[in-house]
Amino acid sequence: MTTRDYIELEELYGAHNYHPLDIVIQKAEGVWVTDVEGRKYLDCLASYSALNQGHCHPKILQAFVEQAKRLTLTSRAFRNDQLALLYKDLHELTGYDMMLPMNTGSEAVETAVKAARKWSYTVKGVPENKAELICAEGNFHGRTTTIISFSTDPQYREGFGPYTPGFVIVRYGDIDDLKSRITKNTAAFLVEPIQGESGVVIPPDGYLKEAARICKENNVLLVADEIQSGLGRSGKLFAFEHEGIRPDVVIIGKALGGGFYPVSAVLANKDVLEIFRPGDHGSTFGGNPLAAATARAALRVIVEEKLVERSRELGSYFLQRLRTIKSPHLKQVRGRGLWIGLVLDSPARPYCEVLKDEGVLCKETHEYVIRIAPPLVITKREIDWAFERIERVLTTFEPKTAPAERKGLVWQK
Ligand SMILES: *Cc1c(COP(=O)(O)O)cnc(C)c1O
Repeated sequence: MTTRDYIELEELYGAHNYHPLDIVIQKAEGVWVTDVEGRKYLDCLASYSALNQGHCHPKILQAFVEQAKRLTLTSRAFRNDQLALLYKDLHELTGYDMMLPMNTGSEAVETAVKAARKWSYTVKGVPENKAELICAEGNFHGRTTTIISFSTDPQYREGFGPYTPGFVIVRYGDIDDLKSRITKNTAAFLVEPIQGESGVVIPPDGYLKEAARICKENNVLLVADEIQSGLGRSGKLFAFEHEGIRPDVVIIGKALGGGFYPVSAVLANKDVLEIFRPGDHGSTFGGNPLAAATARAALRVIVEEKLVERSRELGSYFLQRLRTIKSPHLKQVRGRGLWIGLVLDSPARPYCEVLKDEGVLCKETHEYVIRIAPPLVITKREIDWAFERIERVLTTFEPKTAPAERKGLVWQK
């Protein structure tokens, strides 16, 4: 079967809730993926940062397979050895007292919303059903009905109402707006330290530090969604560390599963997570031993291979090179660690299609931005390889050109 055949099958029988690039991947290793025709590409998306450790990392694979042979599921009706060890590993790595395991990022965000609400009623003394959560414009926290209720992207919302009440939107990076929207019923400020889906949007220096201070002053929980920004992506273990703050609640996911398995978690101290009583909240698969063993290996690889440091050093090298590109279509190059946004003056999609033909996989985000976020195991030589192609495409590709001519223009090897 060819790429075309697979795409036809997918279009025929699959729901069309995504618009993927026309590449059908069959296998992968490290930063490289191979399609069904045997062509190789460098992955510069890393599954939205779920693959920080690279594809099919041998150590995570080994832990995953060994655990799969031993024990995969107990449900939380019984305890399992791997979950207990994951609790300990995460406590030692992050310093937070406790964690609550879930599967997908959205579930962990939902968990944090529930924790903040119940905390506000039982600890802060907010009157029942009056809790408010403040969220930022341009946020991305997932796709469930409650989460899209506080999205500001019309496409994520339209057609899916009625929406969950209790959410207030403030401008991202605007500290006065945040200040003005806090009331005695505010339970939490839920924020991404850097907005990934919005196009690697970095708030002004000092914003998070000031937000943390204001939250503390008003007895409001600061909840950091580190699902994409965390576990090394931004050049720190957590992106909030760039501002030297310590949120009350941290949500992680994506790379916690090492690219093998959906694993997410909410980290917090006892004063917050102890509001959950048996039966308050749960998940059949959350904290299962296969997930826990995989996450433990995924965390070990981040530490042992110094992926945080790699992200910081190689990220600044990549960023510096990308900033040398001279193209009238390139408006801004911004980033932290191996997490870079190229802001264009026209839709990014056609650029991503041409980049794919050149062997570099990227995906447009928020229409005008190309996000560059390779696995953190990428080498300097591989960055140079990708840079050469990105530079060529950005300096030769004219967005108005017809697709047929476009190909000839960039395939000038
Ligand atoms: C991906 C993501 C989520 C949602 O995670 P899923 O596993 O797709 O449910 C939430 N928040 C942020 C910041 C994300 O990047």
